[in-house]
Amino acid sequence: MASTGSHLNWPPVDGIISDLDGVVYRGNAAIPDAMEAFGRWQAAGVPVCFVTNNSTHTPGDVVRKVEAFGLAIAPKDVVTSAITAAELIRAKYPDVTRVYVIGAPSLVKAIASVGLETTDRKPEVVVMGLDRQITHEKMRTAVDAILNGAAFIGTNPDLLLPTDNGFEPGAGATITAVAAATQVKPLIVGKPETHMIETALSRLRTARSSTLLIGDQLQTDIQAGKRAGLPTVLVTTGVPVREDPSLIPPDFIVSSLREVEVPPMIAGSSRQRRA
Ligand SMILES: [Mg+2]
Repeated sequence: MASTGSHLNWPPVDGIISDLDGVVYRGNAAIPDAMEAFGRWQAAGVPVCFVTNNSTHTPGDVVRKVEAFGLAIAPKDVVTSAITAAELIRAKYPDVTRVYVIGAPSLVKAIASVGLETTDRKPEVVVMGLDRQITHEKMRTAVDAILNGAAFIGTNPDLLLPTDNGFEPGAGATITAVAAATQVKPLIVGKPETHMIETALSRLRTARSSTLLIGDQLQTDIQAGKRAGLPTVLVTTGVPVREDPSLIPPDFIVSSLREVEVPPMIAGSSRQRRA
């Protein structure tokens, strides 16, 4: 059962892994309480790594966006599903050289940055993310490659994305279409899977039990955090929270990140890091 309200029994926190949209900002507007909280944690020396299912932005894009809101971070502090997909292909399929990408330029760039060729010619892996220029021909190429034995990777499972005036289909919607056509289940990179949490943990080098996962979505953020063994905080500043008894509940629920208490670093000692 999650705890709510103030005066909570917060665990010792050596590091923070946080979602972005709905936690740090909503669309193009900063969430002031979050800016204040992340600024305070930075000043206290608590390392933070941001994780986002969005494969259409590079870490540099995210750095520029939050810097405009007054929070200074580095590209290494941002883990996207695009970056993680590229690293996952390298680790899981070390002999692969040719990858067919359906996605935004940021996904193509991430795949190329690990030395893989992006091509529609005999690809060994198909990677799908959100592609606002998706066509039937692109999906045909993906289906054909998968039926010829290419591995199938999806950046994130999000089916529906909120827009300024409604909704649009997310990457998960088109990934699902290709999965239906091929009857091949894709390997999903983004939350609620734990790949990005593991990448973030390896960057922070903090212990799971003292690394707080902050997110606004029970279905993705909190499930990923709990599956990875982290204490989790659901902040209700993003998408409306849908109750679902089949999902693992968060450890804490707050309406503002001001409610999250992270003990200040003790003067003269460094935060405990995993060797
Ligand atoms: Mg979110």
